[in-house]
Amino acid sequence: MAGSPPRVGVLALQGAFREHVQALERVGADPIEVRTPEQLDGLDGIVLPGGESTTMGILLDTTGLREPLTAAVRGGLPAFGTCAGLILLARDLEDGAVGQRTLGVLDVTARRNGYGRQLASFEADIVLGGGGVPLPGIFIRAPRITRVGEGVEVLAAIGDEPVAVRCGPIMASTFHPELAHDDRLHALFLERITPQL
Ligand code: GLN
Repeated sequence: MAGSPPRVGVLALQGAFREHVQALERVGADPIEVRTPEQLDGLDGIVLPGGESTTMGILLDTTGLREPLTAAVRGGLPAFGTCAGLILLARDLEDGAVGQRTLGVLDVTARRNGYGRQLASFEADIVLGGGGVPLPGIFIRAPRITRVGEGVEVLAAIGDEPVAVRCGPIMASTFHPELAHDDRLHALFLERITPQL
């Protein structure tokens, strides 16, 4: 129905999916937890949350979600990955677990646990491209983006290091915007989504 809120799936196999559901509700979407391939039907977008990318990778295989999810995002389904979700989207992975595979749909290289064990978790102010009040970035055993492909737009950086990127309908951040009580990135993601009529 025209004017109905966009149906945004949240991959709910593991990790911080409930916080994404709440953030999506706050920005006016209709979030749906996704645990089976059938639940991908009729979505206008999908969020891949933070958590543990190796566990999520295993669960993507056991649930049968890996292939249809990859095909849907390749086919243009808008996707937003945060932290482990960014790892899942990345084309290339450094320091992955043995045998770890990503969906390979976003042309960046992610270095898993890129800040090491000494500085596993931290907060940092993040200035979005358009300026404005900095966004509170919560980093939890976060990946680093060590390469961005051509055509990948850097939405936010700390110094010269990208921490949020976008390429067409795919967005990703190395931090957890869903934990920060600042919904600007979720709102930005929704702007790119056209509900199916
Ligand atoms: N280090 C985690 C991983 O490899 C990501 C951490 C997170 O999502 N907060 O998946």
